[in-house]
Amino acid sequence: MQSQLRRVETANVIGKRVIVRVDWNVTLGKALQVVDDTRIIRTLPTIKWLLTSGARQIVLISHLGKAEEKRSLEPIARYAEKLLGEKIVLKRTIPQVRDDVGSRVIMLENVRMWEGEDVNEPAFARELASVGEIYVNEAFGECHRESASIVGIPLYLPSYAGLWLVEELEAILKVRDNPARPLVVVMGGAKIEDKLPLLQLLAQRADTILVGGKLANQFIDSGIQLTGKARVLLPLEGSDLLDIGEESRKIFAEEIAKAQTVVWNGPMGKVEDPQYRAGTEAIYTAIVANESAFTLVGGGDTLAAIGKEEHLYRIDHVSTGGGAMLTLLEKGMLPGLEALI
Ligand code: ADP
Ligand code: MG
Repeated sequence: MQSQLRRVETANVIGKRVIVRVDWNVTLGKALQVVDDTRIIRTLPTIKWLLTSGARQIVLISHLGKAEEKRSLEPIARYAEKLLGEKIVLKRTIPQVRDDVGSRVIMLENVRMWEGEDVNEPAFARELASVGEIYVNEAFGECHRESASIVGIPLYLPSYAGLWLVEELEAILKVRDNPARPLVVVMGGAKIEDKLPLLQLLAQRADTILVGGKLANQFIDSGIQLTGKARVLLPLEGSDLLDIGEESRKIFAEEIAKAQTVVWNGPMGKVEDPQYRAGTEAIYTAIVANESAFTLVGGGDTLAAIGKEEHLYRIDHVSTGGGAMLTLLEKGMLPGLEALI
């Protein structure tokens, strides 16, 4: 599938207005400061490549938060322009974007402010497409959603996969289709409805599954059983916990040390609170200590928890997608990627 994707390096962008769909849906702190900028950093090589390859103008499109929150991308645009070294002109309406032919880099305000985005309304997708001549998808974290800016625009414009998007795909499909064994999956966090279908599938493919976080509490309370060859390990300390206990940390770390492939998604506890960080730290430490394994880590809250760690580079692939990473692992394809074939 990777080989079928149209890659941005093959596009002729000279003199063109290029729409780049990014996923700058980053965690903001109380003072609207960017807590973790990984999702911004990963998009920069593609934007810079487009600019140095002669693109006339870049039009950035991103969402931020949930539709009903109607949050502004302003603080993120201000932060990102410093990293990019180019001014990012934020526009509140689509006609304003279309009419600005002078700025090198412009950005449309949070695309979820328009109702047509999440439901992929054809007229809205066509209107979005009208602001550019070429479309580049560099928003891996959104590729599992059939929104207008992901699957709608490619119906109207020549469309390409960004550099980071291709890296994501290669790392995740390698784990899905050809993992070195033992394959150890560490799953935590809160969203059991999202994670259960993948866990059911992984129970047939993985060697060991370690379950922590609120997910584990729900597993224990509702007596969920996974069927398959994988050994499933739950925390020993009970189900009313805000973090995994010391004994579980030790057992989980031992399993990770034996792995040749590790996939990790979801914090082991209520990680925003420093007193419940130890379990998540223990998983992180065990993963970076295993130098022979291929290690894949993803998830918005997982990244926010470990994004500032000193040894992050020792993880083989840090995915900028949570739901997208899990869906790609489960299904081997995503709607947003299909639109680029
Ligand atoms: P990710 O974004 O990495 O995929 P999730 O969104 O599934 O992760 O879950 C992250 C959230 O789960 C965090 O807000 C964290 O506080 C919460 N969480 C994890 N474990 C617990 C727990 N034991 N009790 C309460 N909240 C928890
Ligand atoms: Mg999350």
